[in-house]
Amino acid sequence: MPYPKNTDAGKATTSTEAAGVPVQPSFPELEREVLDYWAKDGTFEASVQAREAGEKGSNEYVFYDGPPFANGLPHYGHLLTGYVKDVVPRYQTMRGRRVERRFGWDCHGLPAEVEAEKQLGIKHKNEIERMGIAAFNDACRSSVLRYTREWQDYVTRQARWVDFANDYKTLDLDYMESVMWAFKTLWDKGLIYEGFRVLWYCWRCETPLSNTETKMDDVYLDRQDPAVTVGLTVTSDDERLDGVRALVWTTTPWTLPSNLAAAVHPDVRYVVVRGQDGQRYLLAEARVAAYARELGENPEVLAAFTGRELAGTRYVPVFDFFAGQQPNAHQVLLADYVTTEDGTGIVHIAPAYGEEDKEVTDAAGIEVVTPVDERGVFDSQVPPYEGMQVFEANPHIIADLKKRGVVLRHETYDHAYPHCWRCESPLIQRAVSSWFVAVTKFRDRMVELNKQINWVPGHIRDGQFGKWLENARDWSISRNRFWGSPIPVWKSDDPKYPRVDVYGSLDELARDFGVRPEDLHRPMIDQLTRPNPDDPTGKSMMRRVPEVLDCWFESGSMPFAQVHYPFENAEWFEHHYPGDFIVEYNGQTRGWFYTLHV
Ligand SMILES: [Zn+2]
Repeated sequence: MPYPKNTDAGKATTSTEAAGVPVQPSFPELEREVLDYWAKDGTFEASVQAREAGEKGSNEYVFYDGPPFANGLPHYGHLLTGYVKDVVPRYQTMRGRRVERRFGWDCHGLPAEVEAEKQLGIKHKNEIERMGIAAFNDACRSSVLRYTREWQDYVTRQARWVDFANDYKTLDLDYMESVMWAFKTLWDKGLIYEGFRVLWYCWRCETPLSNTETKMDDVYLDRQDPAVTVGLTVTSDDERLDGVRALVWTTTPWTLPSNLAAAVHPDVRYVVVRGQDGQRYLLAEARVAAYARELGENPEVLAAFTGRELAGTRYVPVFDFFAGQQPNAHQVLLADYVTTEDGTGIVHIAPAYGEEDKEVTDAAGIEVVTPVDERGVFDSQVPPYEGMQVFEANPHIIADLKKRGVVLRHETYDHAYPHCWRCESPLIQRAVSSWFVAVTKFRDRMVELNKQINWVPGHIRDGQFGKWLENARDWSISRNRFWGSPIPVWKSDDPKYPRVDVYGSLDELARDFGVRPEDLHRPMIDQLTRPNPDDPTGKSMMRRVPEVLDCWFESGSMPFAQVHYPFENAEWFEHHYPGDFIVEYNGQTRGWFYTLHV
């Protein structure tokens, strides 16, 4: 076909114009005309209403729209999934189904709090306590929902059909009451417990985080940490071991003051070798070569043991802060998770600051020591470092160890390290008291139900999501924060007369406290107190525990909480659960998809 000449093009233009189609149409203008027409005509509303729900919703196509955090603007990712959220319901509408499309807002939790802190210029949690929780939560309340207008503009402009008029918000009293009901229901089934466990912890936000929050995208950032190899001096009747330095390797020197044990693998072979400095060192045979610089190419092997033979071997702790306090502390313990892939094959155990560490010491009957406070700062149990934030303390601790001559190697270690998903501070592991959903008790059921989900693409089912479910842990659902649904647990303030009450509705609160709350947020909810019925002296009081819920517990409650189930719409809920269609970006396999499934 010949290339069209100018004259031909000119002719074509004329004939197109003759047909009423402009040569250079303004697409944005055309789009606005369509949008205006839809708005005036009520086309979307009519497309829903014109289709019958059918008996028990048999003609409905149920779409769950994941609630975005209400305090940020939409970004590219929202727009991209937004098209799919629109196309599939439209297709089903064209097939004659009734597809309601209700928008929702995730209003609570750290995203809102961090935004409010920025606006108020707050750096520390204690400043919030000083200004008062009421004032802080007011700031949170006004920081969320300020962009709803922008969201509506973006979503509408991309031609998505969404019902903003009947949106749901996780901060609504009805929504929060349903969340409270969910907590109580899990509690009644024995699926909620309070535990003292090691969790990833943000020392700036002063709260533990869940497994979900530490496995999201962008949480692991590159970070440089000091790595030190330190010798623990063994004391033993066996002269092959007495005075030998058992080498441990750590990238968290700040945990060394809290060292309570050393772990070896029962089946790994350990050797005592003479270093170039004349000292005798104990480490895994497989790791000797990695220390050639300090130990020499082929150091003389003086003795060999299996890990099992080393169990119970005593050593002198490198710091004496917790020396001599517990009979079982400061000895070699066995642990199957120890590897010879890095370090020395002997693991330094500080149970308050390592999840696996604590499992080992729990089994050995060793009590946790916790010299680091909520802000990640050392307290008076370790006087030389008192008042120092743990990462700041690292160089001081290393310098002190070097003075004692127990550091075999000090290097810099580059690794991907978890950071707070909201404030980007490097997290620490820390033993804290927290409330958990006992996910491990019904994990098998979740794996089974996942088989019924039609995943697109299909490999997510047994891959990304299936694997995540198989390895699911108990879910830490409490946050030591301010802006969120309250943990509905009241406890006696006198341990002599213990009592725990869990509430699942406003009616139950009204029954016991004599007032029906109009707002379930802190601090109002904390003002509900009453005398402990189990205390004959009448002195102790029932007070709410201070924590609020993980906001992912709230968004995961969306299918029932959006309609105030079970207090209202019980019948509606029965045939709108589970949904027919959900679409979100694949990171939500660890986020919203997961918490919905739980
Ligand atoms: Zn944080």
